[in-house]
Amino acid sequence: MDLASLIRNVPDFPIPGIQFKDITTLLLHPAAFRFVIDGWKARYADKGITAIVGADARGFVFGGALAYAMGLPLVMARKKGKLPADTISEEYELEYGTATLEIHRDALKPGDRVVLIDDLLATGGTMRAISNMVEKLGAEIVEIAFVVELPPLKGRVKLEPHAVHSLVEFMVD
Ligand code: AMP
Repeated sequence: MDLASLIRNVPDFPIPGIQFKDITTLLLHPAAFRFVIDGWKARYADKGITAIVGADARGFVFGGALAYAMGLPLVMARKKGKLPADTISEEYELEYGTATLEIHRDALKPGDRVVLIDDLLATGGTMRAISNMVEKLGAEIVEIAFVVELPPLKGRVKLEPHAVHSLVEFMVD
């Protein structure tokens, strides 16, 4: 499956200099979406996974589908102010700007074994914040998975020592 050809490049979005990798075009192809989810489902079967953590917002699309496919709980890491109950929070840096993410304190517990999901790994700031929160709640991170990775931005280094998996690489920054 040639996923790369289904991901649209949008130059200078949301600010000049960013090559935005648009996964909405991949989602228009059900066979490609199924390929992504079924691949991860096979990869994480028999790994003792107890929950999937999805990153706001495109991580909800992929993480939600994976949680459904695997019959596992979906934990939502949301942008600040969206979760209604008691949360932990972590500030992070994006490729463009800064933000804060939150997770409900009762969403994970010690003994949980989780996979973290987002659409794209750029600098790794977003997932570093989420992985910090997940670990503070006592859960074990089995792997962090992305559809797209931008290797020149060295997100993998920021996520060490966690295992990182991606399906498509673009050599742009
Ligand atoms: P980062 O924290 O730098 O790894 O950025 C990852 C987050 O920002 C993900 O949620 C992506 O959806 C989004 N993002 C960052 N850079 C891009 C890009 N070039 N194209 C599409 N999404 C991006």
